[in-house]
Amino acid sequence: MTRRIPEPFRIKMVEPIRQTSHDERLAALAAAGWNPFLLRAEDVYIDLLTDSGTGAMSDAQWGALLTGDEAYAGSRNFYQLVDAVRDVTGYPHVIPTHQGRGAEQILFPELVKRVKGDGQPVFLSNYHFDTTKAHVELAGARAINLLTPAALDTTTPHPWKGNVDLEGLAGALETHGKNVAALILTVTCNSAGGQPVSLENLQRASALAKKHGVPVVIDAARFAENAWFIKQREPAWRDATLAEIVRAQFACGDMFTMSAKKDGLVNIGGLCAFKGDEELFRAVQVRCVPMEGFVTYGGLAGRDMAALAVGLREGLDEDYLAYRIGQVAYLGQRLAEGGVPIQTPTGGHAVFVDAKKLLPHIPPEQFPAHALACELYLEGGVRAVEIGSLLLGRNPQSGAQEPSPFELMRLTIPRRVYTNDHMDYVADCLIAVKERAATVRGLAFDYEPPVLRHFTARLKPA
Ligand SMILES: *Cc1c(COP(=O)(O)O)cnc(C)c1O
Repeated sequence: MTRRIPEPFRIKMVEPIRQTSHDERLAALAAAGWNPFLLRAEDVYIDLLTDSGTGAMSDAQWGALLTGDEAYAGSRNFYQLVDAVRDVTGYPHVIPTHQGRGAEQILFPELVKRVKGDGQPVFLSNYHFDTTKAHVELAGARAINLLTPAALDTTTPHPWKGNVDLEGLAGALETHGKNVAALILTVTCNSAGGQPVSLENLQRASALAKKHGVPVVIDAARFAENAWFIKQREPAWRDATLAEIVRAQFACGDMFTMSAKKDGLVNIGGLCAFKGDEELFRAVQVRCVPMEGFVTYGGLAGRDMAALAVGLREGLDEDYLAYRIGQVAYLGQRLAEGGVPIQTPTGGHAVFVDAKKLLPHIPPEQFPAHALACELYLEGGVRAVEIGSLLLGRNPQSGAQEPSPFELMRLTIPRRVYTNDHMDYVADCLIAVKERAATVRGLAFDYEPPVLRHFTARLKPA
């Protein structure tokens, strides 16, 4: 029997959570328009909505908060943060931002400015995260995703479902020529289920871009989780330290954007950093001032930067990562054993449940994965999120609901927050829902917002 990996920490402070009754949950869900996004967090027992900014800080990070230097310019904590970024990534030029999208909004317009072609600028990526795509489009460019076809099959195991489709990339670089603003390498690939990208794939994709003179941006939100997968799965890197693998990942890029709310282990923060291009660095700094704040704080308090400087290093601890990714795998394994269809293998930060398979009687326009999330909440106060037709929305031209290729429910695990007992509870609840799957009903709109409707939509049982 393989031994379970216990949490590599002791609990020094507790935050009580409250279980509610079924009637209370039904009332709360009805008040929230059958949309878990609109629930009060206090009415949620186990919150698996997102892993973004929901992690627990360590005692060292809480201690660092007290060392906050709140000088408007030149805060001590800024220099601590720059040192940490240099140590971990090797990139010398660092701009703090309020979160990942802050980095995107100051970088992308400058990349677009440098495009020499006369067609619409494009960004190429294994997969653009939602806000990444939004900022590409706000900068007047188009986002093209080139994800490996291996990712589309949720049931066949493949170690690198986050990889760039290299043939597709070579083709797109030829087709779009001088209109390519950048290649964005997203590690791990959030939108493909937190699936990892191999170092070989990062290196090849980066070499292709370089051959065409295209700059490479690493979207580094989950750089540590990706490095951990590389150490486990890529034989050439088995004996390397995590720090070496992280350096090798960043060596594939010219710059990076980072939401520090994930592997940076803080509740708020982001980064934009450059390896060499000082001219671009300075242009982005100029844009930072009116958008994010002065260049030595970028929308963060001094204490936030202090906590991030500590978190960046803690996030690379191998015992922590083994526990972290082991916990995601553990929940996946419990669900699979209970007969719940999930994406395999599980990725770094979430388990994806295939609602199309679990609720085949609910059509896409009645949002099977969203209905499943509502049912899971009613069952046990667990909050999950739909990644499917509700998220996808309508075709902007025809106004028709597009059936999404996936109807997934994401169970996203916050970092260092829940124990495996909580995971057992979540699995038990979902297995109970599976047992009565045939009775779960689809949902219809009560109020349908024109854009980004999954955040504010109100629904009712169909
Ligand atoms: C979260 C995330 C972002 C955006 O970062 P925020 O901190 O939410 O603004 C960008 N890219 C990826 C891959 C992410 O996971």
